[in-house]
Amino acid sequence: MNQIDLKGRRAVITGGAQGIGLAIAQRLVASGASVSLWDLDAKLATEAAEQLSKIGDAHGIGMDVTQPSEVAAALSSSVNRMGGVDILVANAGIAGPNLKTWEYPIEAWQQVIDIDLTGIFLCCRAIAPLMIEQKYGRIVNTASIAGKEGNPNAPAYSAAKAGVIALTKSLGKELPEYDIAVNCITPAVARTRIFDQMTQQHIDYMLSKIPRGRFVEVEEIASMVAWLVSAENSFTTGAVFDLSGGRATY
Ligand code: NAD
Repeated sequence: MNQIDLKGRRAVITGGAQGIGLAIAQRLVASGASVSLWDLDAKLATEAAEQLSKIGDAHGIGMDVTQPSEVAAALSSSVNRMGGVDILVANAGIAGPNLKTWEYPIEAWQQVIDIDLTGIFLCCRAIAPLMIEQKYGRIVNTASIAGKEGNPNAPAYSAAKAGVIALTKSLGKELPEYDIAVNCITPAVARTRIFDQMTQQHIDYMLSKIPRGRFVEVEEIASMVAWLVSAENSFTTGAVFDLSGGRATY
């Protein structure tokens, strides 16, 4: 396998303490990048960074992507530590409860939209000016097949992820003259701790919809992201990259 070269690149990965974010961090560090893991769980982020430090440069930062002041403080720490940011993987997210739209509490709706959509907006908004100034950047936002297809009993999640797709397309059209590529990924279902927030019935539903007939491995997601955040992706921006094993209809 050709190794993606990310030597000298500096990456922020939100939700990087575990699951998909951690797999992406591992792949980026293995490719030579320095990584800053931003996560609500500061202890887990620090422990994950300690593990990654055995193969490369990594550190963890506890923060909440929904709070503009915490995004600004985390960015300041990352820049102090790494000297700048070339790559953003805006990946932190929650599933929210599995309830029908007419049963869904407004508080849960708001929380999912705040973390899964506004959190990605806030991170892109904070980091884009740095990338514009240095005339280089690669952004990957984690959306979901739910944002394309709409999953039943996940109205807030589906709406937030559809918003991430639209935000990615919008931002992608704002930045190309600066050599900044903005893309998003739409995984179907990967076995991570996010399953703790879902009913077994919901997990079974999602799996039953996948023509490939299996979960996507987090390493398969990381493999796609590694190319998207590299200079080898010299042209594609504002696009949606499918990881649904054939479920996507567009
Ligand atoms: P996970 O629960 O393993 O990891 C999510 C991480 O995000 C956690 O470490 C958590 O602490 C962090 N986080 C949550 N809220 C945060 C906040 N406010 N600020 C900072 N960090 C916060 O889940 P995962 O499966 O690795 O999910 C990662 C992303 O992938 C999410 O956006 C999720 O919606 C998306 N996704 C997951 C699947 C799947 O099946 N696992 C499928 C499609 C998309």
